Amino acid sequence: PRLANQIAAGEVVERPASVIKELLENSLDAGATRLDIDVEKGGIKRIKVRDNGKGIYREDLPLALARHATSKIYELDDLEAVGTLGFRGEALASISSVARLELTSSRDDSGKGWQVTAEGRDMEAQLQPAAHPRGTSVEVRDLFFNTPARRKFLRTEKTEFGRIDETVKRLALSRFDVAIHLRHNGKGVHNLRAGEARVEKERRVAQVCGPAFMENALHIDMERSGLRLWGWVAQPAFSRSQADLQFFYVNGRAIRDRVVTHAVRQAFADVLYHGRHPAFVLYLELDPASVDVNVHPTKHEVRFRDGRLVHDFLYSALHRALADVRP
Ligand code: ADP
Ligand code: MG
Repeated sequence: PRLANQIAAGEVVERPASVIKELLENSLDAGATRLDIDVEKGGIKRIKVRDNGKGIYREDLPLALARHATSKIYELDDLEAVGTLGFRGEALASISSVARLELTSSRDDSGKGWQVTAEGRDMEAQLQPAAHPRGTSVEVRDLFFNTPARRKFLRTEKTEFGRIDETVKRLALSRFDVAIHLRHNGKGVHNLRAGEARVEKERRVAQVCGPAFMENALHIDMERSGLRLWGWVAQPAFSRSQADLQFFYVNGRAIRDRVVTHAVRQAFADVLYHGRHPAFVLYLELDPASVDVNVHPTKHEVRFRDGRLVHDFLYSALHRALADVRP
């Protein structure tokens, strides 16, 4: 079974950033409002995520590391309704099969909790008492220590950290209600307070995308036939040589989609962005019934029931906003 775990681990555990993504999704599923992410050497040496979520009962701790042990709804029909991010019950098992994992949790404010550790092939999870505030910490050390072939595919510390940073930023712009702290090699990288008022959102966008983005950004908020598009778009003067400041969310989820990409690109191209990449943070909201979210956990795809309507709405909303400021 351990070998099967290691093979299956490839599906979710590709690199440190994918570990972080799984851990953060678990924390959010547990209702966390604060995430502390501590990373060493691009996450290859150590990743630690601490949350203030509801925690895990002592007797459930060993189970959390077992394959297909999910405490969450696994009926696909219920999935979207519940909105839970994880559903397969294999992330922690997969991660622990290719790293040294320590899971510590407390359900209450006693300061006392419990911990299980697992290390590669060593399937037996050891349960012991540990000090911990309400919430959960997961520490993952020495990723791929027992799978040298996989370890070889890791890039430099800088590149791996870049992926982590991207993952954290993408999440940060979808959950303004959650405080997020990221440290790399002991140095603070992001220190994002929670807050959903417009000024608080704008402060976070400036922290994530840089103050120059916000200074050049137009705030937009448009609604038509049940579709709403809001967010911030940088004026042409702020276009980039890389497509590194492009965040698009559909009903709160970060997605990549052909219809969206095409409409957005077209709108920007028509307003003098030729050869440069626009920068934007945009949120499309629509009736959940008119969009299918691909439930494959590592993909971020959607299918619109009426792609044409969405395309036209996005194009005209953006085009109108941008044309107003055309030089
Ligand atoms: P899944 O998220 O698909 O259920 P995981 O392997 O990611 O599977 O997690 C297994 C289980 O461990 C979860 O269903 C949940 O009960 C528990 N768990 C993991 N991380 C946390 C966390 N941060 N807070 C509370 N419970 C957690
Ligand atoms: Mg999960």
